[in-house]
Amino acid sequence: MSLGEFDLIRRYFERPNVQEAAASPAQGVQLGIGDDCAVLRPTPGHDWLVSTDMLVEGRHFLSTVAPGRLGHKALAVNLSDLAACGATPRAFTLALSMPRVDEDFLQGFAQGLFALADAHGIALVGGDTTAGPLNVCITVMGEAPPGQALLRSGARAGDDIYVSGQLGDARLALEVFRGKAALTGEAFEQVRQRMECPQPRVLLGQALRGLASSAIDVSDGLSGDLGHVLQRSGVGAALWVDALPRSPVMAAQPAALQLECLLNGGDDYELVFTAPPQRRHAVQAAANASHTAISLIGRIEAEAGLRVLDGKGQRMNPGFRSFDHFKS
Ligand code: ADP
Ligand code: MG
Repeated sequence: MSLGEFDLIRRYFERPNVQEAAASPAQGVQLGIGDDCAVLRPTPGHDWLVSTDMLVEGRHFLSTVAPGRLGHKALAVNLSDLAACGATPRAFTLALSMPRVDEDFLQGFAQGLFALADAHGIALVGGDTTAGPLNVCITVMGEAPPGQALLRSGARAGDDIYVSGQLGDARLALEVFRGKAALTGEAFEQVRQRMECPQPRVLLGQALRGLASSAIDVSDGLSGDLGHVLQRSGVGAALWVDALPRSPVMAAQPAALQLECLLNGGDDYELVFTAPPQRRHAVQAAANASHTAISLIGRIEAEAGLRVLDGKGQRMNPGFRSFDHFKS
């Protein structure tokens, strides 16, 4: 007999033993799954940061993805939003719709989900479960000291622009799935891992509190997401193409494909942030402390718009195509 809704929740998502026995029980959670509401108690005086991201089959992930990776990614993309704001993760909810009860799927999904949740000390405190097309919607909640959340609106002319990690691999993997790029063996596994298993830069985001003037995470592509910062901050920017960090696999691709993946590829979940040049030392120290590589990739300018410069400082004219669900 197949598992009912409440047994399913109890078996795969409620973890009283884990939560209570954990060496560091989730901070701020008075009551988790099982009642009509979760009861959370924020650190007195701190700001509460909340974000939601939904993953829809066929839109955000392919049916071929391993359940564990889907569980990981569903939480990772949400943690990435907390990271972009410099928040400390505290709690999340999970709204899950699926066509039928598939225990192999649920087992793998929960494993991937909780492995990442435990790594970041964030507790699953509630949610909703229903039959329907496969759809995963997570809401994350985190905290930051009052007024210290990193926002998109603080970039100023003269600020340095940085990005964490490497760009474009997730998009390159997508191009392989679409049959528009050819990669085999280890190279394909590497970029596929970047697409299916993004690592949210939570520690870096927290380390940048009080240092970065603005921040955003790259979910829809560098040009579009940096564009949001420019718009919110009322500034423009120059980007140095040669400085854009890329993996060895990416560096071996044709130049036009590299440019497209680096500038317009989505699903990177790296942080793009700005800081005044006087803070360069402190920014690098924050990156080191959070064990995250960062690259200086451009400069904020007073003139509106995004200018892309080649190695000689010459203006290039790549197309900018940020991902848009209703246009793509
Ligand atoms: P209600 O009908 O009061 O909205 P439900 O019967 O839907 O509550 O859920 C029972 C409990 O299980 C609640 O505490 C809810 O937050 C939790 N829950 C339901 N689905 C999930 C899920 N997918 N993940 C985590 N908690 C869940
Ligand atoms: Mg209720």
